[in-house]
Amino acid sequence: MRAPVNKIIPLSVVDGPGNRTSVFLQKCNIACAYCHNPETQRMCTGCGICVEKCPVQALSLVQEKGRDLEGLPVIWDEKKCVQCDTCIRVCPYFSSPKIHLMEVEEVFSEIKKNLPFIRGITVSGGECTLYPEFLTELFTQVRAEGLTCYIDSNGCVDFSRYPDLMDVCDKVMLDVKAWDENVFYSLTRSSNETVKKNLIYLAKRHQLEEVRIVCLEPEVDVEAVIRGIAGSVREHLDDFTLKLIAFRSHGVRTALKDKEMPSGEQMEKWRGIAVNCGFSNIRIV
Ligand code: SF4
Ligand code: SF4
Repeated sequence: MRAPVNKIIPLSVVDGPGNRTSVFLQKCNIACAYCHNPETQRMCTGCGICVEKCPVQALSLVQEKGRDLEGLPVIWDEKKCVQCDTCIRVCPYFSSPKIHLMEVEEVFSEIKKNLPFIRGITVSGGECTLYPEFLTELFTQVRAEGLTCYIDSNGCVDFSRYPDLMDVCDKVMLDVKAWDENVFYSLTRSSNETVKKNLIYLAKRHQLEEVRIVCLEPEVDVEAVIRGIAGSVREHLDDFTLKLIAFRSHGVRTALKDKEMPSGEQMEKWRGIAVNCGFSNIRIV
């Protein structure tokens, strides 16, 4: 069983508790206007634009090599690559040619190299829950080593449809990007119905590690999100951290790239609203 892997960060302290190995899978099911790694959103179409632009000829189209490679249309020669990211900048399809299709065992063997130094793994994306069977198998193997397994998700895939995965997943870090469905749609081109369902489902199962709001007004109805979460899972507010993330423009490719981050004062106002709503674990980042 294989999945497209955008990158593996051996040691991360920002993707859940403790030192963790973070695995980023390629492809997303929504398109956030403020996405800061938009090159993870789509699979490569094989258009060849980046192949022409690579300064060290580290890329080639599969057809040029006369190979019938199932899956990825561009071959990336990692040894030649100088990591200039020109390919990512020129890709018009929100993709990257620097992807590996990896078996569960291959990802697991990368994780095993870090075993003495990590408390667990976190799988992110893109949207990693687009690969539920892959995650289930990976998590089963990783947990057998005594590590915890976390999912970082936009919440747009219904978790209740994958009970086997949820049984081997320790916690989820869930984005709630907007509360009003029209606001959510204008930000992501998708519906937030499943996100709200997942919020309640995960809270009842005590599987929420943190719920995150990227704070940016007026594009995000921040106060409504805080109140909406509080109203939906009121009896579980002590179980998870509410993370208020100040919008940053790094990596953003849409019109939002010129927006400024909210002030510290504004972030504190939102913290105050969260406190009044009953949240006890609040982090501003
Ligand atoms: S990051 Fe690597 S593959 Fe991409 S353009 Fe630069 S050298 Fe080529
Ligand atoms: S990564 Fe983007 S630019 Fe390169 S071949 Fe694929 S779709 Fe085209």
